[in-house]
Amino acid sequence: MDLFEYQGKQLFARSGVPVPEGRVAVTPDEARSAAEELGGRVVVKAQVQVGGRGKAGGIKLASSPEEAAQHAAAILGMDIKGHTVRILWVERASAIADEYYVSFTLDRGAKQHLAMVSARGGMDIEAVAAEDPEAVVRLHIDPVVGLTPWQASELVYRAGLDRGTARLSAAALASLYRAFVDLDCDLVEVNPLILTSDGEIVALDSKVTLDSSAFFRHPEFPAFREAFAEDPIEAMAREAGLNFIKLDGSVGIIGNGAGLVMSTLDVVSLVGGAASNFLDVGGGAGSDTITSALRVLTEDPTVRAVLVNIFGGITRCDLVARGIVTALDSLELPWPIVVRLDGTNAEEGRAILGEEAAGRVVPAETMLEAARTAVDLAGGGR
Ligand code: GDP
Ligand code: MN
Repeated sequence: MDLFEYQGKQLFARSGVPVPEGRVAVTPDEARSAAEELGGRVVVKAQVQVGGRGKAGGIKLASSPEEAAQHAAAILGMDIKGHTVRILWVERASAIADEYYVSFTLDRGAKQHLAMVSARGGMDIEAVAAEDPEAVVRLHIDPVVGLTPWQASELVYRAGLDRGTARLSAAALASLYRAFVDLDCDLVEVNPLILTSDGEIVALDSKVTLDSSAFFRHPEFPAFREAFAEDPIEAMAREAGLNFIKLDGSVGIIGNGAGLVMSTLDVVSLVGGAASNFLDVGGGAGSDTITSALRVLTEDPTVRAVLVNIFGGITRCDLVARGIVTALDSLELPWPIVVRLDGTNAEEGRAILGEEAAGRVVPAETMLEAARTAVDLAGGGR
């Protein structure tokens, strides 16, 4: 699970990594108050889980609360590589003397942790790494021993970070590595880690990926996800245990297994339509899951027809059919449903639909036929 920059910084602060003081804001007014509270110059930063916000115009310096509000108004709603900005982080501006790059990841091949440090951090690190790989120092860390003080210094010296503040940078590396291990991260990346004009070392950005399989060890982590101001439909789907992704077409898709759902999306576009979502009910879905999946789609006003495509394996088509009947009986489904059932208990499933949902669902024999019908019913085209 990827965290927002501000969430990563909150974790860094707890591990003793210096970060600028800041506030979350979701409206221009909140950005103005945040700037007032912080005082002086601030940076207004788009919170999206994708890099390159600076280059996309999602990071702006403001010298007054009024200016912070103006930047906030411009940045909120902005699209950065397909991510809509809904949250801002307003933080006290830093005076940058130098920008470094630091990351800790797991090198699975080497069965060790890998540290990467460069004195040439900032927005062009990818170009630096490509043109001058030597500028990024790599060092493996034995996960049992951890990052030794000696190694932290070695990274600082080999990367050519400022000598006068070497102790501070080494301490920041040690704290970041501790955060990486203690929080069960897959990735901790700080670009830039800055040297300020006052001679301090501060994490100015954060990219943290938590290992979701370690969540049981961190009861506080689910709160990070809740703070995501997730799309309400996605939140509802997640609560129902469904794997849902919003897309921009008009054909609602429900399938079992990510592979089948992906191919259903492809077939829908092949016949000239566009899916309004990806929704995988998972393996072994029972009737409740199917009912929930249909309920989730009722929340999406862009859906004009629904295509249920099930290839029964451990999932039983008769249970799927039961779930559809329950949804038809208990929910107001505003669109036609095309159903293609194949595999385990498909015949039983079709019989149930024939008896209890006759005229209320459109049966289809094949995926192609199902897709054609659903696209037609959705009004065709995109
Ligand atoms: P990214 O573009 O998504 O990686 O966002 P960053 O948080 O790394 O910010 C991009 C760039 O904005 C940094 O490399 C800095 O050059 C600049 N920047 C961010 N915060 C500050 C700040 O407090 N003061 C100054 N002067 N520049 C900043
Ligand atoms: Mn950055």
